[in-house]
Amino acid sequence: MLWDDFLNSEWHDWRGSGRSEDRLDQPEWIRKWQEAHGLAVERLPDARQLEALKRLRSLMQSMVKLLAAEEPVPELLIEELNQVMEGGPVLRRLVWNGEQYRVRLEAQRSTWEAVMAETAASLARTLAEGDPTRIRICENRDCLWIYYDDTRNRSKRYCDDKLCGNLMKVRRFRAKKKAEAEEPEEPE
Ligand SMILES: [Zn+2]
Repeated sequence: MLWDDFLNSEWHDWRGSGRSEDRLDQPEWIRKWQEAHGLAVERLPDARQLEALKRLRSLMQSMVKLLAAEEPVPELLIEELNQVMEGGPVLRRLVWNGEQYRVRLEAQRSTWEAVMAETAASLARTLAEGDPTRIRICENRDCLWIYYDDTRNRSKRYCDDKLCGNLMKVRRFRAKKKAEAEEPEEPE
């Protein structure tokens, strides 16, 4: 989805090196993100727009952290998100794709303000039409990847079971071994 891709532009090395990257500072990342979501703006964001993008990201991160902890989102944050969405008025178009009717929303302008509005709206839609209790942050504290748990039994604890899931399993195993080794031996 648009919103979680955007939030994960703040990347943390899940292997625990402590390294992190702000991918909003990488023009190639921005281009790929735009292309993946059909966000048409010709020019890369200027300094002011980049700052606004990062502000939006922290706002959305705050909301997601609350949601992942099953806490309510304060009205103030909702209002801030609404203000960002005002920056991108859309036109509604009824389209027939040969199988079904859909209402397509088309941005009226190709600006960074419109991109930010779209991004904010993508989270708003998940909250309103999806299931906000499925929003998760990877339980590997080094990773903190944000995702939507769409598994049937809502049991997804890590962004990726093969990567973070495995790593945490290994860490738990080692911690257990270490604790066992440190325990004084029982007298016979
Ligand atoms: Zn992870």
